[in-house]
Amino acid sequence: MEALNRRRILASSLAGGASLLAAGHAYAQSVAPGQAVRDGVGADMLGPQNQALQRQNPDILVPPRSDHGELPNLKWSFADSHMRLEDGGWARQTTTRELPVSTEIAGVNMRLKAGAVRELHWHKATEWSIMLKGSARVTIVDQDGRNYMADVGEGDLWFFPSGLPHSIQGLGPDGCEFLLVFDDGEFSENNTFLLSDWLRHTPKEVLAKNFQTQASDFDHLPAELYIYQATVPPALAQDKVADPLGDTPKPFTFSLTGVLPQTFAGGSVRIADQRNFAMTTMAAALVEVQPGAMREMHWHPTVDEWQYYISGQARMSVFGASSNVRTFDFQAGDVGYVPFAMGHYIENTGKETLRFLEMFRYPVYEDVSLRQWLAVLPRELVKSHLHAPDALIAGLPKRKVLVVGG
Ligand code: MN
Ligand code: MN
Repeated sequence: MEALNRRRILASSLAGGASLLAAGHAYAQSVAPGQAVRDGVGADMLGPQNQALQRQNPDILVPPRSDHGELPNLKWSFADSHMRLEDGGWARQTTTRELPVSTEIAGVNMRLKAGAVRELHWHKATEWSIMLKGSARVTIVDQDGRNYMADVGEGDLWFFPSGLPHSIQGLGPDGCEFLLVFDDGEFSENNTFLLSDWLRHTPKEVLAKNFQTQASDFDHLPAELYIYQATVPPALAQDKVADPLGDTPKPFTFSLTGVLPQTFAGGSVRIADQRNFAMTTMAAALVEVQPGAMREMHWHPTVDEWQYYISGQARMSVFGASSNVRTFDFQAGDVGYVPFAMGHYIENTGKETLRFLEMFRYPVYEDVSLRQWLAVLPRELVKSHLHAPDALIAGLPKRKVLVVGG
């Protein structure tokens, strides 16, 4: 009786605008800010509260009953990252300094206004990127001196191997915003090799000797540029310099949205890895999950997974062996992380299509599907683990269903 009243009180407080998760989940729960209560366990909260953050993280405030143990934090929001503001744009990053578990991958979110340039530079990490909005022109020169230039738009990728020098410039009408993914969690966007930095720290006499000119030609070297405002360049064909050494043999850019998706009742998956994007050493999957559906229970047999949430709302539970399970909620602009081999699933908990990226520091996309694994094993062996009806075991899909319908 008391539990019933408690539920009524909770329901009426929810009508006041608190976040309400989609119904029909195995552990569906309704969380009101200030109510750290699940089925009569827990208590209301009396002290200071960040209610906006609590509403975004209902499964942190009131974890599912199945959560247990001490998995590390596996979520970071770019909204909590320091913003580096520059003339013509901005940059913010998620590295091991923000999310300590993310040792294999770091991410940078960057905006360049029309004409603005991320200055000529290089770095030790490899750079994978996806254009989120707008368009840009990228340049790169390889170790044989061959140049490559391309214009990239929404849904396009680029991949720049470690050590090769490159630039990015926002195009009209409104420049661009993109996500950079690096194969080193300790990467810092503030520690790249900048052309302006090197020249400013080289004696002018040496510059004169190197460029075969006079030292006074370098009297006006700019301070560190990093991101700076310039004018929108002419069309690609006019902008490109003919390189007598030729073009690079393989493109450094790729259309992820042009990939034929694997489609399922509950969504779709587009994969870009070395099998279709020859240049890349990092595998990527763009996953779409319809409301009520989920990225099925699975794990990755090779490396950690770094996620970037593009749109919609999600909940991910991660299983780390020894009864350790922890659940996190995600919104657009958030980063998720799954250490190597840990089981996980990602539910769409909102009313819109959920879109997110799975990234791997590995050239080929690989996963193990829980259901497909069991589907191709002897039925008695499986039955002795599940104690479930024969029909369930007979109906297991023998091909992977990456997104399972709601
Ligand atoms: Mn770079
Ligand atoms: Mn995964």
